[in-house]
Amino acid sequence: MRVLLVAPPGAGKGTQGALIATHFGVPHIATGDLLRDHVARGTALGRSVRDHLSRGELVPDEVVLDMVGAAFTEAKAAGGGYVLDGMPRNMAQARALYEIGRNLQMTANVALHLQADDEEQLIRRLLARAALEGRSDDTEPVIRHRLALYHEVTHPIVDWYASRGILVSVDAMRPVERVARQILTALEAMRPLVDLVPEHARRSIDLTGLGAAFGRNDPDPVV
Ligand code: ADP
Repeated sequence: MRVLLVAPPGAGKGTQGALIATHFGVPHIATGDLLRDHVARGTALGRSVRDHLSRGELVPDEVVLDMVGAAFTEAKAAGGGYVLDGMPRNMAQARALYEIGRNLQMTANVALHLQADDEEQLIRRLLARAALEGRSDDTEPVIRHRLALYHEVTHPIVDWYASRGILVSVDAMRPVERVARQILTALEAMRPLVDLVPEHARRSIDLTGLGAAFGRNDPDPVV
């Protein structure tokens, strides 16, 4: 299974990405984690991106594309599956990633969109996490900037994946376990077909209305 995640900060990309990767036994390639690891180790790459990260700006496309190209080559050797979390972040990255995937015969089967429109709730989630993890970009002004950047340059790629027929959208503003269950159920249902049905013959799937369709008397508190 080859999945990429598109989601605003705070929607649960990291958590859901790790769960999907474990479930399918594929590597979880998280660009933010890879970059933070470089910063923590003080590598030349880490020193060159540290300020971008703490200001909530995107690092240059070539940097992440090189990193992900190398991670894809490793993933190919490990069987060819992956969960890519944090990339693409803009249309240029989306197109470049498609080329990398085509060369390695591992373009994404599914672009999973974690829909989360309630900004104030996302900010509360990230500030709660900041108290635990102390990420340099989890301060309120930087979080607001990351959200604005998401809407401006990242969210438009959702339509591109929809037009390719590989988009699956879920409502991520529900408790983590429910979101995870819905994602894994959808991906499991698709698993036997993803490599058989060519992209042009596929249709995107929108599961975001499913909660509402069954009534939203959700007893679980939404964090
Ligand atoms: P979040 O989605 O919560 O902002 P991430 O861990 O995915 O968290 O990303 C953290 C930061 O890492 C981003 O704000 C950006 O500086 C950098 N980054 C991660 N992925 C990319 C990417 N594909 N292109 C450019 N910058 C990236």
